[in-house]
Amino acid sequence: MRSDKALIGRTTAELEQICLGLGERAFRGRQLARWVYRRAAGNLAEMSDLPLAIRQRLGTQHEVGLPSIARVLTARDGTEKFLLQLADGEHVETVYLPYADRVSVCISTQVGCPAGCVFCATGQSGWARNMTAGEIVGQILAVQRERPARRISHVVLMGMGEPLFNYDAVVKAVRLLIHEVGISPRRITLSTVGVPEGIRKLAREDLPITLAISLHAPDDDLRAKLIPTARKWKLAEILAACREYVEVTRRNPTFEYLLLEGVNDHPRHAHALAQVLGDLPGNVNLIPYNPVAAQEHFRRPNSRRIAAFREILQTAGRITTQRMERGLRIAAACGQLRRVSVGPGPGRATAAA
Ligand code: SF4
Repeated sequence: MRSDKALIGRTTAELEQICLGLGERAFRGRQLARWVYRRAAGNLAEMSDLPLAIRQRLGTQHEVGLPSIARVLTARDGTEKFLLQLADGEHVETVYLPYADRVSVCISTQVGCPAGCVFCATGQSGWARNMTAGEIVGQILAVQRERPARRISHVVLMGMGEPLFNYDAVVKAVRLLIHEVGISPRRITLSTVGVPEGIRKLAREDLPITLAISLHAPDDDLRAKLIPTARKWKLAEILAACREYVEVTRRNPTFEYLLLEGVNDHPRHAHALAQVLGDLPGNVNLIPYNPVAAQEHFRRPNSRRIAAFREILQTAGRITTQRMERGLRIAAACGQLRRVSVGPGPGRATAAA
């Protein structure tokens, strides 16, 4: 059972209501919000400027609701992968990425993932359930509490799960990150395999975040071999939704392209990608495959092939970047730590949406 006692996941206004319900003044709710979201408190006892009597009464009905840290893997470059345990015993992964100029955290939005991408450890482990908004935000708070020296500045919704399959909780979580935790919306990136209806809806949320679309192939046939949801949503439909997103938000998406040697990294794929994107604005971000023992039928292209692919896109006028490599040694690609630590678990199913 998931906890509905958790304070994490509630807005300041909702926390004020809780305090009013206890016969307290509304400002106690604002104090509570500061402890929960700005100071990443682990329990009510830490909230030293709240009178003990209030904390005791709160404690009869509520708890902070931070996930617990089950395991941490640290890479030499400072990347850390946290395996977090949720209230019902499920596990998700959260990756802490400290850079010289910023601290980024990659968070999960579902326990497992129904999208079933063939190159992804999470996709191969099936789907258990959606995460609540509080559980999604709780990842940031748990990691911030564990690593207090630097403030988390950037959030990427690119961990386990397809965010747009858990739309309402994800949008609520993004609003909490912006308004309660204090992350700038421009420093939040939501990555999706491309759910046209979700992209259109997101365009109208008035959330100036960055949308990243995982393309991974320039045509529907190849894409469907890598991402089962591509059988349902064709590239033309996804790109039309992106165009609408740009028109409504005036913000350009980023197109993610995972490079798999001998699968989608041929120069003809680069030419086709440039063509299919046409005049749709947005940069391409190339992600050379991160090898996983369990999926060793995929390989990472060599640097010459990556450079050639990039060159073709650049020549076609498409700004093309390559994702900075972090945490390769701790298997930073999503789902790998959960898979080796807790396994896929019984009764989980992978199903293309
Ligand atoms: S890559 Fe993302 S969308 Fe695809 S299965 Fe993995 S977690 Fe799900």
